[in-house]
Amino acid sequence: MMVMSLVSIDLEVGCESGRIHRLAGVHGDGSASLAFPPGKLPGALDALDRLADGVAFLLGHNLIAFDLPQLRAAQPNLRLLGKPAIDTLRLNPLAFPRNPYHHLVKHYQDGALLGNRRNDPLLDAKLALQVFTDQCASLKAMQEVSPDLLLTWHWLTTQDHGTGGLDHFFTEVRGAGRPYASQVRAALTRLLDNTACAEVGADIILKAEQFSWALAYALAWMSVAGGNSVMPPWVRHQFPEAGRLIRALRDRPCSSPGCVWCRREHDALTQLKLWYGRDYDFRPEPVDAASGLPLQRVIVEAAMRGEHALGILPTGTGKSLCYQVPALSRFVRTGALSIVISPLVALMEDQVKGLRERGIEGCAAINGLLSMPERADVLERVRLGDIGILLIAPEQLRNKSVRKVLAQREIGA
Ligand SMILES: [Zn+2]
Repeated sequence: MMVMSLVSIDLEVGCESGRIHRLAGVHGDGSASLAFPPGKLPGALDALDRLADGVAFLLGHNLIAFDLPQLRAAQPNLRLLGKPAIDTLRLNPLAFPRNPYHHLVKHYQDGALLGNRRNDPLLDAKLALQVFTDQCASLKAMQEVSPDLLLTWHWLTTQDHGTGGLDHFFTEVRGAGRPYASQVRAALTRLLDNTACAEVGADIILKAEQFSWALAYALAWMSVAGGNSVMPPWVRHQFPEAGRLIRALRDRPCSSPGCVWCRREHDALTQLKLWYGRDYDFRPEPVDAASGLPLQRVIVEAAMRGEHALGILPTGTGKSLCYQVPALSRFVRTGALSIVISPLVALMEDQVKGLRERGIEGCAAINGLLSMPERADVLERVRLGDIGILLIAPEQLRNKSVRKVLAQREIGA
């Protein structure tokens, strides 16, 4: 499919020694490969250099942050260090923004290839080729549906020096060369229309070049926001700006009356009707003593603004709505998970059932009554980002597997 001559590289470095223990390289067309050991490292590095002679690009999973610095430290005169590089780890959240992630990649944890467990660099170098082939196919399919997204990514990911590999790659995928800034600003204007605050969006479009990969990842997540997608934890940690951009674009209401996003996504009544139905309204009673407004509305608005709120309401006056509406709204805006801690197991089941009946799937409960498979299924859906509200019994927070899964997610409230 894609005509690019490349060599895929993978290294294994000793944790304590910091030296290259194993390395492997394989030609993109499978015509030649090498593996070390056997032999000595200097000879293996020479052989790797010869393998890469004549190819246009280097490929690898985490190549830019890991393998290339290691190679440079071991032998700074390697010719291959002058070649453009393509990193499949970096491309993955763009090529596969939606769950399930690529089957060969432990994307959600550290982004490593599944083969890594066996410490076999030749296998990993081949897996990286497979992942790259699938990424090309996925991005070509996305090009048909959302050429604005691909155009913007092409430009954002090729801001720095030494990104000739990616420029060539996106040129092949899109069938067009690196776009001009004016084309990118027009594409961004279309992409952000109705999916972000108009005021913040206009500002970010003007400064787009500052954000490079972070904005590319933010746009990837936004293209599938609303469930079944989570920004991988390694992206959140390595590119914290991506999360900040999403919050700036979608989570802070402006005051402009003409901003479609903010007036819709940050308005409590609009959100109530969106999630519960057109005919719904806040209950007129009980009333907030300070403002005279319905207490439900006052609580929902405070929670939607991200304020700490303590609401005390009598039984049967609609308490659960007070946290459900802000949690669902936040989930769509930023993908963040809201955790509801409740000791009442029967109440949890009722809430999940009630939301399901409204067609809201992004809600689940973990308590002591679940069978092992049911529990594993809920934890998997939380981890993959399908769940926006998790109801949980307090003692479950002692459980290590629960805490590990929660650590994978951004917690909204
Ligand atoms: Zn706005």
